[in-house]
Amino acid sequence: MADYTGDIGQATVPKQRAKQLWKHTTVRRHVHPVLRGALAEMAPGLERCMYCGDNQGTDIDHFEPVHVNPLRTFDWSNHLLACSLCNSHLKRDLFPLADDGTPLLIDPSSEDPTAHLHLSLAVGKYIKLTDRGDATIKVFRLNREILARGRRNAYRITPLLLEDWRAAVEKGDEEDAAACAATIWEQPTADVVHAMFHQAVAPGAEVIFADDHETLALLRDPLIRTALLSAD
Ligand SMILES: [Zn+2]
Repeated sequence: MADYTGDIGQATVPKQRAKQLWKHTTVRRHVHPVLRGALAEMAPGLERCMYCGDNQGTDIDHFEPVHVNPLRTFDWSNHLLACSLCNSHLKRDLFPLADDGTPLLIDPSSEDPTAHLHLSLAVGKYIKLTDRGDATIKVFRLNREILARGRRNAYRITPLLLEDWRAAVEKGDEEDAAACAATIWEQPTADVVHAMFHQAVAPGAEVIFADDHETLALLRDPLIRTALLSAD
């Protein structure tokens, strides 16, 4: 990777050289599969896209696009696993910057999105908390109906799975408990599960879960939190 970066740095037109190298047969055959495999292990659930959390992550995305910073084409910390919709159709070469030149998009591999985005669990849509949250919602169309609907489904089904998990633990059935935990985290839009655990212990939790005290109790249960948040 360092050799490729050196090569790009010495090229007359680095942008062009970076694109050429990234698509080179040797790189596609030998570098891409290794990168993709490592990213798949870091991705949420079943190799989900790190941006939408819904589709399978099929593409290696350059967080800072190649044309913006060719020297980061082979920089591991600039690679993310994304679905082709988020990578090729929505983000494309978009990389909005703030007035001070810093990126507006949230890097899901190194930043906590909850500082910029609040998930409204009841409607399944994100609410911007900052300009960066706003830009991220817009570029990835995070509030498109198909995602909102999937999140509402996850919000509905997760408390049932948490109850199943607890019942399995009480029976001493470790295998079933592990299967429940896997189902919880491997469902699409598992960002909902993160948001539920996060919001259950944040100020205003009693209002958010006003109609569902049982769910709130499950999400605050120390046994559940310890086991499931570490299983993610
Ligand atoms: Zn996606």
